[in-house]
Amino acid sequence: MYDKVQKYQKTPYVQSDQFLVIAGPCAVEDEQTMLLIAKKLLAMGITHMRAGAYKPRTSPYSFQGLEAKGLEILKRIKEETGIAIVSEIIEAEQIPSYLEVVDIFQVGARNMQNFGLLKALGKIDKPILLKRSFGATVDEWLYACEHILVAGNENVILCERGIKTFETSTRTTLDISSIPIVKEKTTIPILIDPSHSSGKRNIVLPLARAAIAVGADGVMIEAHINPKAALSDQEETLDLVQLEMVLDELHKIARVMRKKLI
Ligand code: PEP
Ligand code: MN
Repeated sequence: MYDKVQKYQKTPYVQSDQFLVIAGPCAVEDEQTMLLIAKKLLAMGITHMRAGAYKPRTSPYSFQGLEAKGLEILKRIKEETGIAIVSEIIEAEQIPSYLEVVDIFQVGARNMQNFGLLKALGKIDKPILLKRSFGATVDEWLYACEHILVAGNENVILCERGIKTFETSTRTTLDISSIPIVKEKTTIPILIDPSHSSGKRNIVLPLARAAIAVGADGVMIEAHINPKAALSDQEETLDLVQLEMVLDELHKIARVMRKKLI
């Protein structure tokens, strides 16, 4: 069994009375755009920015990310603004270069069962955001999490991002049931990603509402200063006015759920 997941006693990265909001573009873009987005997020009270330097794309013809240059940009944005950086790591060899830049190491859906990567991340002392694979059961996801815990890193955050079903109207089906199911088994915090799960900008707001109401500990939302110009995932990316509307709604529901947005 996933023993350590079930007996989890560590003070989690997101406490039970908190709700973490992570927002930002799909991928790292030019420095000016990133700086502008980081400053606007901070002005809205969002302290964690997401952005992928290395992008594991389904097609090799899609934008693959700025890679090492992207990490350098993130480093300068962090130094200049103090915003916490959430970014996806795709290979264990990247750990040293990520350590000085990234505050939360994201493991993407496509790497949820990359056990070499999970074991390597189990040896570092940074929070790991483990996304659910779109082809994994909750049990398989929690076993993947157990790999990180067993290797020695107890600082894990889970992230539900939808699973493949027969439904084609959204990119994947957001499995909101997994939140209370996981919460029956562990106190490890769990977020929802309404952007990648739906692939649709127009339903990010209702899904974000559902996230906080169902008991999730946070959301990760794709947002950009100009979504039409975003280098990837334009169709699900919110502009910053839309993001502010989501925040307003989250604040309202947070009061009912006795949580504070962080
Ligand atoms: C992402 O968050 O950048 C991403 C690629 O999401 P996922 O791994 O859930 O597809
Ligand atoms: Mn994306």
